[in-house]
Amino acid sequence: MTQNISNSITWHTRAQKVIPGGVSSPVRAFSAVGGNPRYFVRGKGSRIWDVDGNEYVDLVGSWGPMIVGHAHDYVVAKVTEAAALSASFGAPSPNEVLLAEEINKRVSIAERVRFVSSGTEAVMTAVRLARAATSRNVIVKFAGCYHGHSDALLVQAGSGVLTLGLPNSPGVTPGQAQDTVVLPYNDAAALEALFASRGHEIAAVITEPTPANMGVVPPINNFNLKIREVTSKHGSLMILDEVMTGFRVSSGGWWAMVNQTEGWIPDLLTFGKVIGGGYPVAAVAGKAQHMDLLAPLGSVYQAGTLSGNPVATAAGLATLELCDAALYATLYQRAKQVGEIISNALTTEGVAHQAQFGGNLFSFFFTDKRVTNFAEAQTQNTQAFNAFFHAMLENGVSLPPSAFEAWFVSGAHTDEDLAKISYAANIAAKRAAEATRS
Ligand SMILES: *Cc1c(COP(=O)(O)O)cnc(C)c1O
Repeated sequence: MTQNISNSITWHTRAQKVIPGGVSSPVRAFSAVGGNPRYFVRGKGSRIWDVDGNEYVDLVGSWGPMIVGHAHDYVVAKVTEAAALSASFGAPSPNEVLLAEEINKRVSIAERVRFVSSGTEAVMTAVRLARAATSRNVIVKFAGCYHGHSDALLVQAGSGVLTLGLPNSPGVTPGQAQDTVVLPYNDAAALEALFASRGHEIAAVITEPTPANMGVVPPINNFNLKIREVTSKHGSLMILDEVMTGFRVSSGGWWAMVNQTEGWIPDLLTFGKVIGGGYPVAAVAGKAQHMDLLAPLGSVYQAGTLSGNPVATAAGLATLELCDAALYATLYQRAKQVGEIISNALTTEGVAHQAQFGGNLFSFFFTDKRVTNFAEAQTQNTQAFNAFFHAMLENGVSLPPSAFEAWFVSGAHTDEDLAKISYAANIAAKRAAEATRS
């Protein structure tokens, strides 16, 4: 049985004439894995349908936002209700206040929340705030961490750029690149050495609490605490980018999950993905002391025509209302189950792999060694992943189209989905094994 994707091919041909590469975001083009991307028209719960009517179990979930599944009745009702009352006012509206209160309730250190429309913008704002708060310029990031596509952060930025084999992006000026220092993740010695020589120049260290944009690479030896200690000692801020982990790995995110046991507190946080429930909402948050530097209270300018949009914030709020303890229990269970199914299939076929988890985020590296940083992530066998990916897709399971991305489960995944994943994985593991041998 070969899948009919003729309509997807037609759409992609049309798209490439009017949209660069046919896509609104690069990884969607399938450059890394080859083949024709699918064009989707519908989703319900854990399933999505393409323009040819093929049905897939979705393990991308729009890269995280679809945490309660596609077109959840409650979210659709709340969005419909808000949309009927007007799309936007460009003026204050209650939904943004409700969403900010909900975020504050779940993440106590998010004393103030400023909404923007994308994770990229949230991080840009956090960086600007950190520079203003410290009167310093340099930002430290870790190789393989992705913090959006703003100039300062588009240096060794993980999955998207990596997939295209671009170390850095043209168009980022040497000045901007110079103010960003990139270190290997999980390398406390490198961090200490950098601060010993340049600490007085460093405005902030930005990190994903458990990196998940080079595949999932959890922190080791309480690396987040290390970052906090070093930054505090040198008067630099710590920016925790929870755009992916926020409200996914626990009711509040990574920090909310570990702060009792690990004892570190970031200065600023960024959120996105889940807080918009699939609509464009992101936020920068943190201590009032820093956040109140933003205009109109302070002099750090930041603005947005559609920021705090009433329809998008209604979607985010409705989604968070559904994100209760039962949902998180389900996410952890499903992540574990999918992980086991894939691992077992690959092991049976003798395909070297590492299942790596950061909370309920997970990914597979096609290598026989544990991956602790970006350089190690790059040693995996991407041919094997690509073969695996296509076999999964042809058998009705949609995975992220890159070996350097996390996989996402939702509260809507069922035992039947697991059976479908298992069926596809057995075929896909054989293809990965063939690709490994060839
Ligand atoms: C997705 C992501 C971003 C960028 O968010 P966009 O909404 O795509 O701009 C930033 N940081 C992290 C950790 C992300 O996963």
